[in-house]
Amino acid sequence: MTNIRFEAVKTAMGRKPEADRPVPAHNEKVKDYFASDVFTRERMKEYIAEEVLEQLFDDVDNGRTIHREIAGSVAIGMRKWAMDHGATHFTHWFQPLTGGTAEKHDAFFALDKNGALLEEFSGEALYQQEPDASSFPSGGIRNTFEARGYSAWDPSSPVFLIGDTLCIPTVFVAYTGEALDYKTPLIRSTAALCHAAREVCGYFDKQVKHVHANLGWEQEYFLVDEALYNARPDLVMTGRTLMGHISAKNQQLEDHYFGAIPARVLAFMRELEYEALKAGIPIRTRHNEVAPNQFEMAPIYEDVNLANDHNLLIMSIMERVAQRHHFRVLLHEKPFAGVNGSGKHCNWSMQTNTGINLLAPGKNPYQNLQFITFLVNVLMAVYKHNGLLKASIASATNEHRLGANEAPPAIISVFLGKQISEVLDKLEHAKAEEAIIINAKKEMKLGVANIPEILLDNTDRNRTSPFAFTGNRFEFRAVGSSANCGAAMLALNAAVAEQLMNFKAEVDCRIEKGEAKERVLFDVIKRYIVECKSIRFDGNGYSDEWKAEAARRGLDCETSAPLMIDRYLAPSSIEMFRKTGVLSEAELNSRSEVKWETYSKKVQIESRVMGDLVVNHVLPAAKRYQTMLLQNVLAVKQVFSEDETALLNEMDYSIIRQIESHSGAILEGVEKMTEARHNANRQPDERSKAIAYHDTVLPLMAEIRAHADELEMIVDDELWTLVKYRELQFVH
Ligand code: ADP
Ligand code: MG
Repeated sequence: MTNIRFEAVKTAMGRKPEADRPVPAHNEKVKDYFASDVFTRERMKEYIAEEVLEQLFDDVDNGRTIHREIAGSVAIGMRKWAMDHGATHFTHWFQPLTGGTAEKHDAFFALDKNGALLEEFSGEALYQQEPDASSFPSGGIRNTFEARGYSAWDPSSPVFLIGDTLCIPTVFVAYTGEALDYKTPLIRSTAALCHAAREVCGYFDKQVKHVHANLGWEQEYFLVDEALYNARPDLVMTGRTLMGHISAKNQQLEDHYFGAIPARVLAFMRELEYEALKAGIPIRTRHNEVAPNQFEMAPIYEDVNLANDHNLLIMSIMERVAQRHHFRVLLHEKPFAGVNGSGKHCNWSMQTNTGINLLAPGKNPYQNLQFITFLVNVLMAVYKHNGLLKASIASATNEHRLGANEAPPAIISVFLGKQISEVLDKLEHAKAEEAIIINAKKEMKLGVANIPEILLDNTDRNRTSPFAFTGNRFEFRAVGSSANCGAAMLALNAAVAEQLMNFKAEVDCRIEKGEAKERVLFDVIKRYIVECKSIRFDGNGYSDEWKAEAARRGLDCETSAPLMIDRYLAPSSIEMFRKTGVLSEAELNSRSEVKWETYSKKVQIESRVMGDLVVNHVLPAAKRYQTMLLQNVLAVKQVFSEDETALLNEMDYSIIRQIESHSGAILEGVEKMTEARHNANRQPDERSKAIAYHDTVLPLMAEIRAHADELEMIVDDELWTLVKYRELQFVH
């Protein structure tokens, strides 16, 4: 009988690094191929009339709707460029709530009424499509019988080629206008933020016409050899290992982080980067991560909508390139117990059209007051909506990572670092008279607070914080590696937009009553600093003391993902999303439904796979080994005297009993787990179902796993059929 595990390990061990075929020739420079698969503004000039482009760019830059005639002219140029580069098909590329991206390819041709072939790609086809989208989740907004969902062109993100297909980034909305995707509300949130931030910038600099949010993501992932992956049904079906005893060596020597990248992996990375750069994704950084076979890559930051498209695109490019190298990419937040999981740090900042980063200390007192204003408003927004921000990153997969002592805890707090904390503390205690001395209009001195001299030391870092200020941006670290970061970014943009709106209203009201602007700004900021103090935490986020302290401070400490999701429907969230125009109450309802439903389905699949694995792999191996031991016991009896037999069989007896006890516990656990699943499925609504899966199915899975992992340590290695952690993590 062949053992699939040994076959897989043998195959993996025999692999050589793939020659990285499509990687550029030695003399090819990045600038020669960067964005070569993208219909950039530069390239558009070759294919589209100048007047058309002028109108298009003006509309895009000012957030206006594109006219259909313009779309028609753009479509012709787009098709020509795509066909010149070998494209035969086009697709609307959108981001359904299932996660990932969806596409439906159509060829660039039609038949005329005589049946003759016409090369075609109309403005209509560019502008809008009606994919048969009835099976995408909508959380009740669009019942399948009224199944109309539209995808519509997002002209702010350029179209690109993947192989023979022109991909057009689109939003995905219901017939009635409700968003069925992540992109629509993300775009709405950037518009809200742009407007609110510009208004506040008006206090400091009238030149500011536009503010946009930037995102620089850092994508963590694991690589596993394809043969090993295929021999683990749990990885194939759920993206994570549902069992497996931790390897004797894992990450304790800290020898993987920033270590030399293995040759096979490097070949993969180079090809991945080449493909990414051609697609216009400005990948800049690559390195090993903490856990064995864990890696990270990061691009240069971009506008949040484009950056998010690029992140989603690279997640699919990664999978494709990995397969060419006989790897599989694991984007799951926690593929292996006992070692670090994967996140997707989202570096976020706000920038003006005049080139000012609103989260970076400035060169003069005025810019610094502006910096402090935006910083403190972000703090307030995170403080008010800390539960919602956690909901925005909550999922069945990220739940395994958060709070696991290598990832941020399931409590949102903000790390500011020593210097900024000191500035805020000084401001808080400063008297208005001494804090603001306005000197002949030209110079505004912030006396005690001494804001003009903010020079940041970037080494002040805290790895345990879920939301950290890192000198000129905030880094939202709780986002999961497999997530669409749009979910987190739109919540953050909207929360900050609402906060800036409130701030503006309050300040304006007092200025109208005749108070001096600087005095009012200072006053309100000072009050905010006091009000949102409890969100600031620079200590160790992993400690138990922090959990107790956070609860005392009234921060959201919920650890169950289904209950975190409740925050989408809290009155403060509904009001905030309504006020900013980012999501309606109906949309929030549908989104929570989808989140709960997805949660239950994921745990349901895991639980079924686990049942199969223990019954079909673990227990048979254990029984076989137990039988071998029993046969040995009998043989010893035949050969040796009674006294000697007792002695010789002692160890066998002990192992036989352990196998019996673990096997019995597993069987009982599987029975209870099946019952718990049935019970969960009978719950009347998606929320209760998700809660039941969380509260009753997951704990049983953990119990079963513990027994299976014990058996793995006992049973003869030759008989064990599931690829072990030490192989999954170290064979490459
Ligand atoms: P680390 O946090 O590991 O030190 P890097 O310095 O490489 O990482 O930066 C991580 C990400 O932050 C990159 O994508 C980078 O482009 C992005 N980033 C840098 N400055 C900003 C900014 N002002 N706004 C948003 N993202 C930024
Ligand atoms: Mg970082």
